[in-house]
Amino acid sequence: MTTNNQPISIGVLTSGGDSPGMNPAVRSVVRTALNMGARVFAIYEGYKGMVAGKGFIKPMTWSSVGGILQQGGTEIGSARCEEFRERNGRLQAAHNLINHDIDRLVVIGGDGSLTGANIFRQEWPGLLAELVAQGKISQVQANTHPVLHLVGLVGSIDNDMFGTDMTIGADTALHRIIEAVDAINATAASHQRTFVIEVMGRHCGYLALMSAVAAGANWVLIPESPPESDDWEQKMCDTLRAGRLIGRRNSIVIVAEGAQDRHGKAITSGYVKKVIEERIHEDTRVTILGHVQRGGSPSAFERYMSTMVAQAAVKEILAATVDSEPQLIGIQDHTVTRAPLMACVAQTHQVADLIKAQDYEAAMALRGGSFAETYRTFRTLTRAQPRKPQPEQRQLRLAIMHSGGPAPGMNTAVRVAVRLGLDKGHTILAIRNGFRGLIEGNISEMEWMSVTNWMGRGGAELGTNRYCPKPQDLPKIAARLTAHQIDGLLLIGGWTAYNGAHLLFKERASYPAFNIPIICLPATINNNLPGTEYSIGADTALNSIVEDVDKIKQSAVASQRCFVVEVMGHDCGYLALMSGIATGAERVYLPEEGVTLADLEADVTNLREGFKQGKRLGLLIRSERVDPYYTTPFMCAVLEKEGGDLFDVRQAILGHVQQGGNPSPYDRIQATRLATRAMQLFDEPHREKAAPALVVGLQRGQLATTNVADVPSLTEQGVERPLNQWWLSLRPLARMMAQYQEPV
Ligand code: ADP
Repeated sequence: MTTNNQPISIGVLTSGGDSPGMNPAVRSVVRTALNMGARVFAIYEGYKGMVAGKGFIKPMTWSSVGGILQQGGTEIGSARCEEFRERNGRLQAAHNLINHDIDRLVVIGGDGSLTGANIFRQEWPGLLAELVAQGKISQVQANTHPVLHLVGLVGSIDNDMFGTDMTIGADTALHRIIEAVDAINATAASHQRTFVIEVMGRHCGYLALMSAVAAGANWVLIPESPPESDDWEQKMCDTLRAGRLIGRRNSIVIVAEGAQDRHGKAITSGYVKKVIEERIHEDTRVTILGHVQRGGSPSAFERYMSTMVAQAAVKEILAATVDSEPQLIGIQDHTVTRAPLMACVAQTHQVADLIKAQDYEAAMALRGGSFAETYRTFRTLTRAQPRKPQPEQRQLRLAIMHSGGPAPGMNTAVRVAVRLGLDKGHTILAIRNGFRGLIEGNISEMEWMSVTNWMGRGGAELGTNRYCPKPQDLPKIAARLTAHQIDGLLLIGGWTAYNGAHLLFKERASYPAFNIPIICLPATINNNLPGTEYSIGADTALNSIVEDVDKIKQSAVASQRCFVVEVMGHDCGYLALMSGIATGAERVYLPEEGVTLADLEADVTNLREGFKQGKRLGLLIRSERVDPYYTTPFMCAVLEKEGGDLFDVRQAILGHVQQGGNPSPYDRIQATRLATRAMQLFDEPHREKAAPALVVGLQRGQLATTNVADVPSLTEQGVERPLNQWWLSLRPLARMMAQYQEPV
């Protein structure tokens, strides 16, 4: 890409507090820019490097960003820079950029860094005029770069920025917090201790609230929503004590570092500890998580999200004209968004101002709907026991069961459903071991404490299997539902849950017992279900794959080796493609595309070329059902033979580790949202003649329902996957990140 026959030059920098995910973003900026024919410079150490110039502004090649995808922090360095706050520092910075012909910047940082960048951009023409007057640059140089083009990406673990649903770093920070809180939970339970855990977030309670939900904490204090009463200390202590009385062994209180009371007085973790010790005489410990939250390898989501937004940022900046306004590139649901940068910064500051002015309702409203909804759900879930039912309340007998393979997050969903159901005055029955258990009558009543500590537990405590009911099972199923007077059925699982629900729905005319609300909650690691863009368990499986592939890659440092990694997914390539993007795989084989002999031949040729040019490692990710003949061992054999002396080949079939492990924070949070919505549906009035049969899912990031009756028409003929899969649009991105060859 050129202007006046000069290649366009882009500068990229990371600034302010570092956050995991900055490396994948820089990698994506560099590779997209090179791919589009632009030159790209990394400005090391943020604005400090821009002001210092020489040695800090370095041209990047395809391989300069190799091997950084899985690294935490930022390889190109970040710094705070006082000089850049002064015009003189910015004058120096402009001079250095002009010397490199850079007039396009991708800035990855928090609101401070983006504000600074915008000031710099506004001053740019004046700065250049001054440099011309001082004889430091020529008038021609100034004329060639009349404006500074600017695009912002938000690097911040706090998730505190308008214009994006997720900032670069927030998901990984939640991983770190949840790892810590899970560990603390275990020791707290052993000694019946109370832990007060302080997490980051000066103006934003996102990390505190989401980690409290995901860890099943007992109390949370966030800046946006201070405790309502002036005697909140007593309420908190009453709740903690009531929990002890009904047998809870661990108590966890999460405090955001910016938590305050209604009058703006800070609530510190030390103060919370003092209150608990004084009022309920409990052994209480404080843990301030601090910089651990910024550390570690970026999560799977972080890696693909950063790669997506950074690619969009480069496209935006290369398309910018003299009249373009600077944009912030963010993400909403799974879609990249763009919004005027300065409006986003202004709105972000507004929330902080509202909190300062103690207008908490307005601050909470600006945080958006799902934040407030999550806060309400959290408050119900942490009750020590259900509320007393109101006289006018309908009291139902609701049954919960799983069906399909295990998916991390199933227990989370059950915990939420049981507690919300009991809180509404319903009787909750657990059906164990899926449809088999239903047929056999393996049904028992659940209590509030039956699900204690299930929030972060992997596996499926209620048991699950892939047995799908057959027509001859239906009379027995109907008899069980009638005998237990079941008024509604919640099915949490994958395709067999959907198929089972569909069968019961279809047979309503023959079996009146099936004419009850049937709600399906999608839970499968494969993410292959219609009616939702995401199913519970998929994020955990993806993280598990990514961690394993990182290790596999490390194992090959000393040899020239090609790995073929087989991942799960049934008929759906979600796990393969997303893990391919998140680990930098050369090639991903998807069941949606299949594989031919010609493909394999081309891949072998590419790999041979790559290894001849010095490549040390090849990574191919194959979804388990790509092709029944070209199996993983077959593909390895072809590569081994054709690779000759250039490289050797190893296969890694990841297998059932992908279904195990404790659910990731995202899986826990979404399981909470979906189960909350599912339980609301049982309470909504419906016509007696046609009880609802619905799938609760996420569509464009929002809770949505789909009729079970419509599932077949949303499904691809003959295979278990939806007709529309949003993530398939990321295939070109995966290719672009992997397949560029360095010019010789
Ligand atoms: P973050 O980007 O994480 O919010 P800071 O607020 O510390 O972090 O900002 C990082 C750097 O951005 C500062 O050290 C400074 O160099 C620059 N910066 C921040 N605010 C401004 C401003 N108003 N004017 C000029 N530069 C600024």
